[in-house]
Amino acid sequence: MTTPTPLPPGSTIGSLPPGSTIGIVGGGQLGRMSAIAAARLGYRAHILTPSPGGPASQVAAATTIGPYDDPETLRTFAAAVDVVTFEFENVSAQGLDLLAALKPVHPSPAILRVSQDRITEKSFINAAGAATAAWVPVTTRADLQHAAQSLGFPCIVKTARLGYDGHGQAVLHTETDLDSAWEHLTPKPLIAEAFIDFACEISVVVARGQNGAAVAFDTVENRHRNHILHLTLAPARITADLANQARATALNLATALDLVGLMAVEMFVSADGRILVNELAPRPHNSGHWTLDACPASQFELHIRAVAGLPLPPAIRHADAVMRNLVGPDDMTLWPAILATPGLIPHHYGKSEPRPGRKMAHVTRLFPRGSLPGDLGVLSALGPVAPEAE
Ligand code: AMP
Repeated sequence: MTTPTPLPPGSTIGSLPPGSTIGIVGGGQLGRMSAIAAARLGYRAHILTPSPGGPASQVAAATTIGPYDDPETLRTFAAAVDVVTFEFENVSAQGLDLLAALKPVHPSPAILRVSQDRITEKSFINAAGAATAAWVPVTTRADLQHAAQSLGFPCIVKTARLGYDGHGQAVLHTETDLDSAWEHLTPKPLIAEAFIDFACEISVVVARGQNGAAVAFDTVENRHRNHILHLTLAPARITADLANQARATALNLATALDLVGLMAVEMFVSADGRILVNELAPRPHNSGHWTLDACPASQFELHIRAVAGLPLPPAIRHADAVMRNLVGPDDMTLWPAILATPGLIPHHYGKSEPRPGRKMAHVTRLFPRGSLPGDLGVLSALGPVAPEAE
């Protein structure tokens, strides 16, 4: 680290000189790819994680091991870094507050708080002028009954906090589903949402610097399998008007949040052609991994640049791309075939155990700009990792 004296709370840091240390809370693959981007810009990455030897620590200059909510661990970590960011959202906001009293934290703990609670998040999105599915907060069993009545069936109920990859949610088809959803979904409160008959799911990754300048990557299309992202197609195969609306929405939300850092905005394109925002993720995002290979500056580089106070280059794309996630354990049996297939760009996360549902790696295939093929072409271009081959 280069600044022995802690900066006053809330201060900004200007541009961090090379050799400075960027603290990353979280030790997974998003931290790993952010740490690699930091190293390319001359920074040292210092990881805070409870588990030693994880994906990020393997490529970082240093690691502090300890619980995210332990004040002593947090103080030790803060003393070793110049600026703090985070790579996942289920870290305690109080922990980030403690760090923010010692070093600049980007994005701010206030933004984390918005994204950690679906009720706060949806209220914020609507107040910023963006549309969402109709939603109702649910704190009692009676609320759930009223929500289902007002939204109609089917509708979807989610825990307001601590959900991820489809965990903590249930689709209600009839009155008879209410009891089981109420019993199984914890913690309370819940949020009930109208079920969107979507044409496709899309996302936009946006970066915003300390001077308020923001850039957004092209809108991409996301396909899920078992509630986990399976494929990202860049660009999304939607009209230019919708793609531009989605980017404008993401940029507007970044400004409304006063974001410094990176954020993904997940959205639906409804069957009747409206953009509805589903979620905000104020960190690098799985649907932005294609930018590592298809863009001069990836989402991870923009993340580090924003956090370090560097200028943000335009988020341009020199190729079309398809990104395919490899999830444990079955997908990893394809790894030797992936390595033997020209044109598939492999990214392994260095995790030792391919547990079921665990994201282990991804591969990207590039296409000349403007030539992303239709579904069948995408499948054949993915070779051994085409869904039919499984
Ligand atoms: P989430 O945890 O909110 O990202 O939801 C996970 C997945 O569930 C999304 O990617 C959608 O495929 C689906 N989903 C979530 N909310 C809705 C909704 N209101 N209507 C239809 N599908 C939804």
